[in-house]
Amino acid sequence: MNICVVGTGYVGLVTGAVFADLGNEVTCVDNQSDKIAALRAGHMPLYEPGLEEMVVRTVADGRLDFTEDLVGGVRRSDIVFITVGTPPGDGGQTDLSAVEAVARTIGQAMERYLVVVNKSTVPVGTGDFVREVIERHQARPIPFDVVSNPEFLREGSAIEDTLRPDRIVIGAPSQQVAMTLLELYAPLERPMIITDVPSAEMIKYASNAFLATKISFANAIANLCELAGADVTQVMKGMGLDARIGPAFLAAGLGYGGSCFPKDTDSLIHTASTFGSDFVLLRAVVEINRGRAAHFVEAIRKALSPLDGKIIAVLGVAFKPNTDDMREAKSIEVVSELLRLGATVRAYDPVALDNAREVFPASVTYCASAHEAAAGADAIALVTEWNEFKFLNLDRVRQVMRRPVIFDGRNVWEPERMRRLGFEYHSIGRKPILPA
Ligand code: NAD
Repeated sequence: MNICVVGTGYVGLVTGAVFADLGNEVTCVDNQSDKIAALRAGHMPLYEPGLEEMVVRTVADGRLDFTEDLVGGVRRSDIVFITVGTPPGDGGQTDLSAVEAVARTIGQAMERYLVVVNKSTVPVGTGDFVREVIERHQARPIPFDVVSNPEFLREGSAIEDTLRPDRIVIGAPSQQVAMTLLELYAPLERPMIITDVPSAEMIKYASNAFLATKISFANAIANLCELAGADVTQVMKGMGLDARIGPAFLAAGLGYGGSCFPKDTDSLIHTASTFGSDFVLLRAVVEINRGRAAHFVEAIRKALSPLDGKIIAVLGVAFKPNTDDMREAKSIEVVSELLRLGATVRAYDPVALDNAREVFPASVTYCASAHEAAAGADAIALVTEWNEFKFLNLDRVRQVMRRPVIFDGRNVWEPERMRRLGFEYHSIGRKPILPA
């Protein structure tokens, strides 16, 4: 099939590369000329395991190309995927201006029947909105259909998730239109569910809101464990073994960040309010999440008080491991609060430091390794649970630190091991290991 993917970010670039790898002819469109120029020169604008190899391979095979020309892309294609950003607007509502701009050009450009697929995360009702915008901008009436095909990939494993999704959701206005998408996805041999368009749009938000709820639930229990002297990792393990609950997304820590959960939970609360419904549960989930970074920094302040003049090594700045994405990363709140309290911050992350330089204040020092960050530090604050931190040579780390104190925001290490290694160790929802 001839496919146009509009918006060459995490979702669009991965989707385009995978469709091309499955044998389709794919044009990836973006309105950022530097991004398109970089991609044409073989440079990836983002870090994602396995992506570069797939892009290089499919470009060399002539099945994937990059352009700023949306009109040309639309005219060459049978299906157009909209994968542009849908950032938060004022008051939690979703900013649909990029989706609208693309729909407008699709309307102006189309010359024959087209299936337009919303893959961006958009509030329920956006399918109708896109349909209206396209119709309004057509020079003459040309039939088309709008499908909702929400994306569930996770940054850091986006290629794997796109090749082997748990499910593929196709919200289509008719069985016949759904068949076009079924055919496209058939080679993946994954479970597919066909719904109407609003239900597909809602599935995406409901899924993200539920996962966010699991995270905030674990964190609320962690707070209670800290007060009651219980261990949240044991509690969550005990809960997660119940098949009705499951272990995923029950890790207590600094809470969720990234470009999806924060904006999607806000958006669903806003959608509910437009229908006159107060989503009390989800508001509490968001509130609990908002308190996580402050709770963590408060523990650091209490233990090291005063923070003025203290050196803190911040390990991990990406919003989660295996990505360089810093959108809504918890490190942003943690670092700015540490700096506000007078601490000096030395930061290390395996891949996200370039992005960090654009986000953090100028006073942050960037280090080439965890050991370099820890050198001379009064404490380590682990913010992102990269695998390499789990396997750090902590003996060596302790030797280079000014004081052997660790604040583990993701419960990466075992308290008893930290005691044996001679650290003062503070983690989430577990008793601290204090100096004897
Ligand atoms: P992104 O910011 O990485 O990429 C969006 C791209 O769209 C950018 O390259 C931008 O230049 C381009 N763009 C914006 N307006 C455009 C226009 N008018 N014409 C052409 N290109 C335009 O965003 P993303 O993370 O890929 O997310 C895209 C959508 O997918 C969002 O709705 C998001 O909520 C959803 N989503 C994201 C993830 C994720 O993990 N990142 C997962 C599932 C769903």
